[in-house]
Amino acid sequence: MSLSMTDIVGNEKLRKHLCNDILAETPSHAYILSGPAGSGKRTIAMMYAAALACENKGIGGYALPCCRCQSCRKILEYKSPDVLITEKDGASVKAEQIRDIQQSVSVVPNELDHKIYIVENAETMTNQAQNALLLTLEEPPSYVVFFLLCEAEEKLLETVKSRAPIFRTEPIRSDLIRNFLLEKSDDAKKLAANNPSELDAIISISNGSIGRAIELIDEKTRLPFVNQRNSAALFVNYALSKDTVRLTELIISLPHKQDELIPTLTYVQTALRDLCVLKKSENTELCFYSDREAAIEKAYSVGLAAIMALYNKVEDAKNTLSRNANMKLTLTNLIASINS
Ligand SMILES: [Zn+2]
Repeated sequence: MSLSMTDIVGNEKLRKHLCNDILAETPSHAYILSGPAGSGKRTIAMMYAAALACENKGIGGYALPCCRCQSCRKILEYKSPDVLITEKDGASVKAEQIRDIQQSVSVVPNELDHKIYIVENAETMTNQAQNALLLTLEEPPSYVVFFLLCEAEEKLLETVKSRAPIFRTEPIRSDLIRNFLLEKSDDAKKLAANNPSELDAIISISNGSIGRAIELIDEKTRLPFVNQRNSAALFVNYALSKDTVRLTELIISLPHKQDELIPTLTYVQTALRDLCVLKKSENTELCFYSDREAAIEKAYSVGLAAIMALYNKVEDAKNTLSRNANMKLTLTNLIASINS
């Protein structure tokens, strides 16, 4: 599946701004891209790197970047020595990692006219790391462009934020994700023809993330998510209708592993959130249910207070589980609290 800057869906303003910077040959030395996971931050930064280096840049008829020339391909296949990605080490981006960047910044690019540094999860940089980065951001060599990608730019020091324009990426609307998948992916086309409800489910599960949607089109990646989602849908049905027997059977049958159980409970909450917002407006974007009519019916079959109460009980169980509490006991307590 090949992409170019014009294929980046959503985030139009940001895209235009970056394209203009490239064509006017006035790239900033640093950009902060802030937005939820999967909203295209890494893709935008990689596209920007390719666009800077693209051999067909500025030639009429070519998208920016063309994604075909040797420079574009090398960058987008993660093979360019001049596009350097830093990911967090454990829970944070550490000062040593930033010091490595500092040292490499002074070495001129290998093949390209620019060196692009992409720092993922920049909000996890320790204060020490951010202060180290500041030194580089103050006076970077002219060939350097930084992309600081973060989910919460509030966690960046004011001094760092003042060094770079901040752009916010937004979750992508489900109709845009659908169009994109149908245009770009043969697997998505097949799914649309053979199993349209599964495609609807993928779009809902991907929750505004094109990257996630592309991953989930692959059946192997999708299966655990589909299972978790199906369990969550049943959970909501049984819990809201107080079908104690089936709810208990279901909960007992859930995988007793924290990393599978917590996502299932998160889906339960996403479904409950859908039901809450449907009570306020029937036209709102849904994150869990792909069958809007059925979801509306469900939303009206139960009171808001009951939905909220269930949401909070699930939240409590999730919090307890994430503290590595006894899983069986937590689930038993959850069943008891729902039945009370
Ligand atoms: Zn190109």
